[in-house]
Amino acid sequence: MLQPLVRNWKRQWRLRKKIVFFSKVSCPHCHARSLDQMPSNASVYFYHCLQCNTIFKPKSGDCCVYCSYGTMRCPPRQKGW
Ligand SMILES: [Zn+2]
Repeated sequence: MLQPLVRNWKRQWRLRKKIVFFSKVSCPHCHARSLDQMPSNASVYFYHCLQCNTIFKPKSGDCCVYCSYGTMRCPPRQKGW
Protein backbone atom coordinates (compact mmCIF):
# COMPACT_ATOMS: atom_id res chain seq x y z
CA MET A 1 0.00 0.00 0.00
CA LEU A 2 2.86 2.38 0.76
CA GLN A 3 4.85 1.63 -2.37
CA PRO A 4 3.38 4.30 -4.71
CA LEU A 5 3.80 6.98 -2.06
CA VAL A 6 7.44 6.15 -1.44
CA ARG A 7 8.20 6.05 -5.14
CA ASN A 8 6.52 9.42 -5.60
CA TRP A 9 8.47 10.98 -2.78
CA LYS A 10 11.75 9.68 -4.18
CA ARG A 11 10.88 11.07 -7.57
CA GLN A 12 10.02 14.48 -6.12
CA TRP A 13 13.24 14.60 -4.18
CA ARG A 14 15.34 13.69 -7.20
CA LEU A 15 13.60 16.30 -9.35
CA ARG A 16 14.08 19.01 -6.80
CA LYS A 17 17.79 18.29 -6.51
CA LYS A 18 18.40 18.34 -10.24
CA ILE A 19 16.78 21.54 -11.42
CA VAL A 20 19.04 24.49 -12.12
CA PHE A 21 17.49 27.88 -12.66
CA PHE A 22 20.52 29.69 -13.98
CA SER A 23 21.78 29.42 -17.49
CA LYS A 24 24.46 31.18 -19.48
CA VAL A 25 22.96 32.20 -22.77
CA SER A 26 25.39 32.85 -25.60
CA CYS A 27 24.20 35.13 -28.36
CA PRO A 28 24.35 33.57 -31.86
CA HIS A 29 25.30 36.94 -33.35
CA CYS A 30 28.06 38.38 -31.19
CA HIS A 31 28.72 35.32 -28.93
CA ALA A 32 28.39 37.44 -25.81
CA ARG A 33 27.44 35.39 -22.78
CA SER A 34 25.11 36.51 -20.06
CA LEU A 35 24.00 34.69 -16.95
CA ASP A 36 20.26 34.54 -16.74
CA GLN A 37 17.68 33.29 -14.29
CA MET A 38 15.12 31.12 -16.01
CA PRO A 39 11.42 31.24 -15.17
CA SER A 40 10.30 27.99 -13.50
CA ASN A 41 7.59 27.04 -15.97
CA ALA A 42 7.37 29.62 -18.74
CA SER A 43 9.27 29.21 -21.99
CA VAL A 44 11.27 32.18 -23.16
CA TYR A 45 10.90 32.46 -26.90
CA PHE A 46 12.46 35.83 -27.55
CA TYR A 47 15.78 36.84 -26.09
CA HIS A 48 17.23 40.30 -26.30
CA CYS A 49 21.00 40.53 -26.41
CA LEU A 50 22.25 43.64 -24.66
CA GLN A 51 25.62 43.50 -26.42
CA CYS A 52 24.56 43.66 -30.07
CA ASN A 53 20.92 44.66 -29.50
CA THR A 54 19.42 41.80 -31.49
CA ILE A 55 16.41 39.72 -30.59
CA PHE A 56 16.80 36.02 -31.36
CA LYS A 57 14.53 33.00 -31.27
CA PRO A 58 15.27 29.35 -30.37
CA LYS A 59 16.41 26.87 -33.02
CA SER A 60 13.71 24.75 -34.63
CA GLY A 61 12.71 21.91 -32.35
CA ASP A 62 13.68 23.72 -29.18
CA CYS A 63 11.09 25.16 -26.81
CA CYS A 64 13.01 28.22 -25.67
CA VAL A 65 16.24 30.16 -26.07
CA TYR A 66 17.78 28.45 -23.04
CA CYS A 67 17.50 25.05 -24.69
CA SER A 68 19.11 26.36 -27.87
CA TYR A 69 21.79 28.72 -26.65
CA GLY A 70 22.06 28.25 -22.91
CA THR A 71 24.39 26.06 -20.89
CA MET A 72 21.36 24.50 -19.16
CA ARG A 73 18.04 23.35 -20.51
CA CYS A 74 14.95 25.12 -19.22
CA PRO A 75 13.32 23.87 -15.98
CA PRO A 76 10.36 22.12 -17.73
CA ARG A 77 12.83 20.15 -19.89
CA GLN A 78 15.01 19.34 -16.89
CA LYS A 79 11.92 17.88 -15.21
CA GLY A 80 11.30 15.84 -18.31
CA TRP A 81 7.93 17.30 -19.27
ZN1 LIG B 1 24.54 39.54 -29.25
